[in-house]
Amino acid sequence: MTAAQLSLHRMSIDGELVTASATLEVIDPATAAPFATVPDCSREQLESAVKAAQRAFTKWGAEPFEERRRLVNAFIEAVVADVETLASLITHEQGKPLAKAKSEINSAVFFSRGYAALDLAPQVLRDTATQRVELRRRPLGVVGAITAWNYPVLLAMWKIVPAVLAGNTVVLKPSPYTPLATLRLGELAQKVFPRGVVNVVSGGNALGAWMTEHPGIRKIAFTGSGPTGKRIMASAAGNLKRLTLELGGNDAGIVLADADPAKVAADLFWAKFSNCGQVCAALKRMYVHRSVYAKVCEELVKFAATVKIGNGMEEGMDIGPIQNKAQYDLVHAMVDEALEAGAEVLYRSPVPAGPGLFLPITILTNVTPAMRVVKEEVFGPVLTITPYDDEEDALRWANETEYGLGGSVWGSDIEHAAGLAARLDSGGAWVNQHPAMGPDIPFGGVKGSGLGVELGQLGLEEYTSVQVLNVKLGG
Ligand code: NAD
Repeated sequence: MTAAQLSLHRMSIDGELVTASATLEVIDPATAAPFATVPDCSREQLESAVKAAQRAFTKWGAEPFEERRRLVNAFIEAVVADVETLASLITHEQGKPLAKAKSEINSAVFFSRGYAALDLAPQVLRDTATQRVELRRRPLGVVGAITAWNYPVLLAMWKIVPAVLAGNTVVLKPSPYTPLATLRLGELAQKVFPRGVVNVVSGGNALGAWMTEHPGIRKIAFTGSGPTGKRIMASAAGNLKRLTLELGGNDAGIVLADADPAKVAADLFWAKFSNCGQVCAALKRMYVHRSVYAKVCEELVKFAATVKIGNGMEEGMDIGPIQNKAQYDLVHAMVDEALEAGAEVLYRSPVPAGPGLFLPITILTNVTPAMRVVKEEVFGPVLTITPYDDEEDALRWANETEYGLGGSVWGSDIEHAAGLAARLDSGGAWVNQHPAMGPDIPFGGVKGSGLGVELGQLGLEEYTSVQVLNVKLGG
C-alpha cells in the first residue's frame, strides 16, 4: 500500500468524497502506533448525508428490483477488483493476517452474492372472484448502519447490500477503531450507485448516537456490544425506528462422550480462536464429558502449539494482535481475576514482544460460573473448559447465560447431538461445527444477543415493511 493510500481517507456524502474539519487517528494494533487519520464527521455533515440519502430514496426506492440487483452486482464486482487494497487496509487497522483479511473480503463477496440472488416478489394471499390480496415488501427509507471492529468489510457488506437491494438508501458508520476499509467501500460504491444511495461517514461513538436519534433515519442495522445495543433501542424509540441488533454472545460448546477428540480438536480450536477470539459467535465456553476430557485437553493443546501469532503483514501468521488497547486490558483483567480465583492454565502460548497488542492463546480449566471469563463474553483468545458427567448439567450450564447467539454439540451419534442442540437457548444451534453460516441461512441471536436476523430471505426482509394490497373485485 502506498503512503498516499494510507493517509487519504474520505467520507462519501451525496456522491462526493469529503474530509472534515476534525480528524481521528487510527492505530495499527500490530505496532500500537497511529498510522492514518480519518475525518471526524460533524453533525452538519451527518445532516447532509441523511438529506442526501432521503433525496436519493425517492428515485432509488422506485427503481425496478432488477435494476437495483444489477447495480448491487456491479458494486460486488468492484469490491472483488479491489481486494488487495481492502485487505491491506483491514490488516493494518484490524490486525488480522493478510490472508485472513482476504478471506474476510471473499466471504463478504460470497454472502453479498447470496443476497443479490434473492427476490422480493409480492406474495398472493388470496385470489378469488371477489378479492385479490397481496403481501408486498416496501423499502423503509434511509437505513443507518453501525458496525463493530472485528470484521469491518464483512459487517458493512452485510448491511449495505440487503439495504440497497431492498430499495433503501444508507448512511453507514464504521467503528472508529477500523474506519479505513469501510471508507474505501464507500468510495467504491460512489462509482456504481447514484449519488446519495450509499453514504459512509466516520467518527466516534457520538456520531452513532446522533444517527440513532435522527428522525430522518427509518431503521438502524447495528452490530456491536450489548450495552450499545440497549442504548440504541432506547434512542431509536423517538420515531419508532426498525432495528436489527446483532450483539455479543457467550456461546457454549458441549462435547459428548462419543466425540472423537483427535478428529474434532482443530475445529474446536478454531471455533474459539479464529480472528484472535474476536468473533461474536465464537465457542467461548466448552463443556466436555469427563470420559473424553483429558484427551480433548491434550489434543487442543497439541493443536494450539502449532499456531503462529504475530504481525499480520508477515507471511505465515495464523493470528494477529487484539484490535484495541481497551479490549487488550479487559481480556487481561478477566484472565488475571480468574487465575486469582483459582482457575488453572492448561495452555498459554508465547507471544511476540510488544509494543503490538499481542495476547497469548490461553486455555483455562478449573473455572467457576461466577468468574467473568465464564459469565461474560470474552472477546479475545481465551477459552474455558469444564468437565461434566451428566449431559443435562452441561445443557443447563450452556443455557445459563444472558446471551443467546449460538451454541454447539459435538459427537458421533448425530441424531442424539442434534436433539440436544435443539434444546440450546440460542439463535444458532450447530452440530459438529461452530459457527455455521451461509448466505441462505438466517443468522441472529435471542435474549441479550439481539433482535432480528441477517442473511437469507428473512435477512433481506428485515430491510422492508409489509404492505397488504387488498383489492375488492367483481363490482
Ligand atoms: P460497540 O458497541 O462498542 O461499538 C459498535 C459500534 O457502535 C461502533 O461503530 C461504535 O462507534 C458505535 N457506538 C458506540 N456507542 C454508540 C451509541 N451510543 N449509539 C450508537 N452507536 C454507538 O462494540 P464493539 O466493541 O465495536 O464490538 C464488539 C462487540 O460486537 C462484541 O460484543 C461482539 O460480540 C459484538 N459483535 C456482534 C456480532 C453479531 O453479529 N452478533 C458481530 C460482531 C461483533
